[in-house]
Amino acid sequence: MLSYEAARAKVIEVIRARRCAPPPATETIEIATDPTRALARVIAENIPADRNYPPFNRATRDGFALRAVDAAAAGVKLRLVGESRAGVPFDGTVEPGTCVHIMTGAAVPRGANTIVMQEHACLEGDTVIIEKAAHASAHFVLEGQETRVGESVVKCGKRLGYAELAMAAQVGRSRVLVAKKPRVAILSTGDEVIPVDQPPRRFQIRNSNNISLAAQVSLAGGEPLMLGNVPDDLGKLKMRIEEALDADIVILTGGVSVGKYDHVEQVLRELGAEFYFDAVAIRPGKPAVFGFCKDRPVFGLPGNPVSTMVTFELFVAPAIELLSGFSPHSLTVFKAKLSHPVDEKPPMAHFLPARVSWPAGEPVVEAIHWEGSGDIGSVVRGNCFLVVHESKLQYAAGEWANVLLRRGLF
Ligand code: AMP
Ligand code: MG
Repeated sequence: MLSYEAARAKVIEVIRARRCAPPPATETIEIATDPTRALARVIAENIPADRNYPPFNRATRDGFALRAVDAAAAGVKLRLVGESRAGVPFDGTVEPGTCVHIMTGAAVPRGANTIVMQEHACLEGDTVIIEKAAHASAHFVLEGQETRVGESVVKCGKRLGYAELAMAAQVGRSRVLVAKKPRVAILSTGDEVIPVDQPPRRFQIRNSNNISLAAQVSLAGGEPLMLGNVPDDLGKLKMRIEEALDADIVILTGGVSVGKYDHVEQVLRELGAEFYFDAVAIRPGKPAVFGFCKDRPVFGLPGNPVSTMVTFELFVAPAIELLSGFSPHSLTVFKAKLSHPVDEKPPMAHFLPARVSWPAGEPVVEAIHWEGSGDIGSVVRGNCFLVVHESKLQYAAGEWANVLLRRGLF
């Protein structure tokens, strides 16, 4: 059985190999009027700087622009000859023995090579007394020192966060080219599963997986297509999966275990699927399936809600990222100190509902009591998963352990 790292690497390798040629389809988004539509999208072009940044030698403090040699010692008096403010430069030259009042964001005038902060000078009429020796090149940024004209300021394949959008705006882009979101079909299976807006009979279960999956698909950069539920019937399952294969990726939940009514793998096989794994050494989520069917990546995730959530994050998220032109990175875990000991059973890796907090500035993680992979409440009471790798299953309280943050909460 594959480890979760090997299974995740397999998803990435197979999708890269099978879809190597075409870059994702693209669309243009106006950011001048509707920047939020571009938020978190993957950019499909390089954005070049339209000019040098800053476009002139730009002051970073309010104060006085002068020649450093004129104020090598504290107590020097200089004659104030003008002002440079943001948008309105001083158009003369700073001659020996003079200075110019300058504001943050303004252009450093010709002749000046330093700025003395307002706090280190005293203005009396048109005389400025410099109270602290000046040094050359202080408190301004040279033209082009941040970015040179033509340089790529946002590179193809990056996700557009608020800083990337600000950068695109700064260099004059009112629209950006982004990858189209891959369409991800979500189809649950199970005779007992009913829509959320119907009253359940005692042994029926509301379809929570399709809801959590739609949210997870969206957070990973995909366009969820909610296809509802199909009963555990070979014929119906086959028909609905064939419909689902219209999408770019198909996610099925339930019916991948070894139970009498678990038909998903069999139906996929009848539809000509090729499987790359049908079990992973993790808890929750062991029976997770990944294959290609009619040239589409297909995931069969276990039906228990926490298993569905964890296996989506580990295996489906990188597939969605790849199809939207984004390179998935290795699973982003970070270290937190355990509040309690941990003792898990081999030979699995465990993803335990947990809560991380920073009570004294240092991250502390506490596993949440749970009743197994059907217990959505345990995930709700937490904000992350504690990752207990099969290579180290026992921890003492106070040891550092790996934590996988829950996407969208941080
Ligand atoms: P299965 O993987 O089909 O054996 O289902 C495992 C467990 O998950 C069962 O208790 C199911 O009732 C539950 N389950 C299956 N599908 C869903 C769903 N779409 N939403 C919520 N729970 C589900
Ligand atoms: Mg089932």
